[in-house]
Amino acid sequence: MTISDATLRKFCATEDDPFHYTHEPWYANGVILATNGHVLVEIKDDWRRANAGPEKSFPNVDKLFAENPGTDFIAIPPPSEPLICDCCIGSGKQIPIMEDDESVDTCLACNGSGEAMTRVRIGYADFQARYLRLLASLPNCTISPNGNKLPAAFRFDGGRGLLMPMRDKDA
Ligand SMILES: [Zn+2]
Repeated sequence: MTISDATLRKFCATEDDPFHYTHEPWYANGVILATNGHVLVEIKDDWRRANAGPEKSFPNVDKLFAENPGTDFIAIPPPSEPLICDCCIGSGKQIPIMEDDESVDTCLACNGSGEAMTRVRIGYADFQARYLRLLASLPNCTISPNGNKLPAAFRFDGGRGLLMPMRDKDA
């Protein structure tokens, strides 16, 4: 099964992400990668290489995978329905205090997703429901939680990835 471009793009940072992670998937050493800084996905290269942009070198990606191989991979729990962020009412943008304020900053409560950060526990680690829903959309995806500080490894038909857990202090 091929992972669609639309699915791959869901792993990328949004255009207004205040952090400068890549906004596009990229090709490197026979794989296509996408990340927003919280989740990283890698699929084996296929016909898309020509469309994946210039080859870039991100050596620390290999290091991240090597350091977080995962141990016991378990099924992703059935995803819950998304809850709308209370702060931005689902818009993903901060609601301006002044009515004529033209600035549209990204909502900090949900990082612009418009979805409330719902915590889902798997094993000894907590993850954002939004990311688990994304992982569950991948074919036969399983995850190996590794506590609330280290990334969990996940794998699926045709690829693998890493997902950061929610830290204890995150709401
Ligand atoms: Zn929000």
